[in-house]
Amino acid sequence: MSDKKVRVRFAPSPTGGLHLGGVRTVLYNYLFAKKHGGDFIVRIEDTDQTRFVPGAEDYIFECLKWAGLEPDESVQHGGNYGPYRQSERKELYRNYADQLVAEGHAYYAFDTPEELDQMRQQYKTDENPAPQYDQKVRMQMRNSLTLDGDTVHELMHSDTPYVIRIKMPENETVSFNDMIRGEVSFNTSVVDDKVLLKADGMPTYHLAVVVDDHLMEISHAFRGEEWLPSAPVHVLLWKYLFGEDKMPQWAHFPLILGPNGKLSKRDGAKYGFPVFAMNWKDPKSDELTEGFKEKGFLPEAFINLLAVLGWNDGTEQELFSIEEMIDKFSMDRVHSAAPNSIMKKRNGSTRSGSKNWMHRL
Ligand code: GLU
Repeated sequence: MSDKKVRVRFAPSPTGGLHLGGVRTVLYNYLFAKKHGGDFIVRIEDTDQTRFVPGAEDYIFECLKWAGLEPDESVQHGGNYGPYRQSERKELYRNYADQLVAEGHAYYAFDTPEELDQMRQQYKTDENPAPQYDQKVRMQMRNSLTLDGDTVHELMHSDTPYVIRIKMPENETVSFNDMIRGEVSFNTSVVDDKVLLKADGMPTYHLAVVVDDHLMEISHAFRGEEWLPSAPVHVLLWKYLFGEDKMPQWAHFPLILGPNGKLSKRDGAKYGFPVFAMNWKDPKSDELTEGFKEKGFLPEAFINLLAVLGWNDGTEQELFSIEEMIDKFSMDRVHSAAPNSIMKKRNGSTRSGSKNWMHRL
């Protein structure tokens, strides 16, 4: 490990109930921070205002409190690297996006929703049913790569909505070392030109996560493997903005699976077990989803079962106190394969990391 102070973060988008996979990400972050005398930060990633759900942010903090996984820094806990809510950091991101354009790594795009739709229709084939805005089509679109400078200037100063997109390089290999998976490589030709700054001036997740991990001096970025396909974009942004040597060390945790892919709320309802940490009532539909807390789990038991869904200490031990977990936790004992679903275990197939705990409910 480098001598950089360990600073890790959990970066939820406050959009609904806290899935047990999310709490496991919190737990592994927390254990790693405590083991290495570091800081555990919670950053609220709320740049997508269309997905704003009232109450979701407070609910996340209540869940963490119940689970005993209190952050050192957050919206609620304060700290020297705030604000810890991205919507309050809006003004910070624009300069970085403009810098990327000035250096040729990004461009302004003026395409209307109708034009984007037309592009998708035009390039749709059986092999490619959902064409993306990428290096194959970008030169056919309305952006600062195809329009002349005067037109771009005029559009930008006449209230025409535009976004800033990353210009993915052609046929380059982007690699990084994942603490769980080892070396991971991507070819840039298969990655689309993601939007970095939206028409409302808000950054997208891709820009904000890199800028904030830098400004908050995050040393290790741990998250679920659903973010692995975005990693090449993040690695390139690190390279362009701050230097790859400054990049945090990455780890992508395997998903917790249900019978049909990622364990879902629907699986929980169908098989009668919780998927959220605590009861969550959807403010729009009033639908109530039961949580582990209300189902009668003790927080220590909940944490224990999450710890061993994807990690073990190399022995047969399955019950750990939080102090023991902090003492024994190491990333090289986190599995790279997804823990088998609870239901599969029920049906008696192989276990990974945990006994058939649902039977004991
Ligand atoms: N905001 C992302 C989420 O909702 C965070 C991903 C990351 O940790 O980089 O999961």
